[in-house]
Amino acid sequence: MFSVDEKFVCDIDAQDPLRDFRDCFHLPLGKDGKPLIYFAGNSLGLMPKSARQILDEELDNWAKFGVDAHHAAGTPWYSYHEALRNPTARLAGAQPIEVICMNSLTVNLHLMMATFYRPTKSRFKVLMEDPAFPSDTYAIKTQIAHHGLDPKDALILARPRNGEFTIRTEDIIDLIEKHADHLALVMFAGVNFFTGQMFHIAAITAAAHKCGIIVGFDLAHAIGNVPLLLHDWNVDFAVWCSYKYLNAGPGAIAGAFVHERHATNTKLPRLAGWFGNDPNTRFRLHLEPEFIPVPSADGWQISNPPIFSMAPLRASLSIFDEVGGMERLRAKSIKLTGYLEFLLMEIGSKKFSVITPGDPNARGCQLSIVAHQHPKELHNELVAAGVKCDFREPNVIRVAPTPLYSTFHEVWRFAQILSEHQ
Ligand SMILES: *Cc1c(COP(=O)(O)O)cnc(C)c1O
Repeated sequence: MFSVDEKFVCDIDAQDPLRDFRDCFHLPLGKDGKPLIYFAGNSLGLMPKSARQILDEELDNWAKFGVDAHHAAGTPWYSYHEALRNPTARLAGAQPIEVICMNSLTVNLHLMMATFYRPTKSRFKVLMEDPAFPSDTYAIKTQIAHHGLDPKDALILARPRNGEFTIRTEDIIDLIEKHADHLALVMFAGVNFFTGQMFHIAAITAAAHKCGIIVGFDLAHAIGNVPLLLHDWNVDFAVWCSYKYLNAGPGAIAGAFVHERHATNTKLPRLAGWFGNDPNTRFRLHLEPEFIPVPSADGWQISNPPIFSMAPLRASLSIFDEVGGMERLRAKSIKLTGYLEFLLMEIGSKKFSVITPGDPNARGCQLSIVAHQHPKELHNELVAAGVKCDFREPNVIRVAPTPLYSTFHEVWRFAQILSEHQ
């Protein structure tokens, strides 16, 4: 069904029902004035053209209304998070009351763990994947230490088998069952940042729940990349950032999911702030000093919404809504990444191999390529040829063709450049 023909890629781009969405984004240009082949949407998604206008509007509101913009502006600042709720819930596969956009990813992980990691004498261990993103490891280790425990005793790592790069679901489930009596929390990525492996969220969640263990997911590389059904999968909590596949800009507001059964439980312990309090009594704090959590994920919100880090996310989420659902985006993504994989196999170079799973159901759009010889030089050659992708020590080049703005022709050109590297 795929072909190495340039005409084939031109046709497939011309017939792509999502081809016009590329125009919604600013494409960074190379030295030759032509758009870079931008395969770094897994690090920082491109800027939606509509982001500038929406940010300008909020700056204007500030200029025009001052403090009154909290209530007077088109999208009042006071409840700005409400504007993000429904589109976010659609991407997460959540009920609207289960999601809240707030803070940054690692901060949200800490906040979620403050509620959901409640170690006891017998149940105090955390299971996570290795390698995990460093920030998650720091957060989890310091959470463990915060409870007076030693990560050496409390942290269990799920690793690929010898000679393999990705972690088998059966091995994760075995670890859960083996440590069932001592695990307080299973914390995994949705899609691993390094290998691009997508974990079986539903299976991991079910296995942990069978043993009475809480399960959380870090969806930094999953949201906006793969369809999610957090509510139906029964995930306890999840966190993500919005500057990768969600294209909301550097340091953009992050998100959190708390399953309905926990979100409505106002008795759950948490680290609180005034915006997690029932809006009806929020301003009576000096009269009613008791914290009354909102019976939804909003109950974990701490501070008032940072408008300038939220406005670009509104712009980006409306693009996702225009696409008409993650399924449509995913259909293109599977084809686009599948085509990249096909071309890499056609080149058949002994000089590199792909460590991302070959099964489209076990990955998102990213492929992680191990360069066996001169990996840094290969990356430099790619950069010189106008490709934006990244290099991870010691020898992995991560490429993420993103279905919102990457084309089949770009994938084809990327493979051409790679095949010329000998
Ligand atoms: C990108 C990423 C982060 C980044 O954390 P911030 O708090 O947004 O700086 C954390 N964890 C994972 C898995 C990531 O991919």
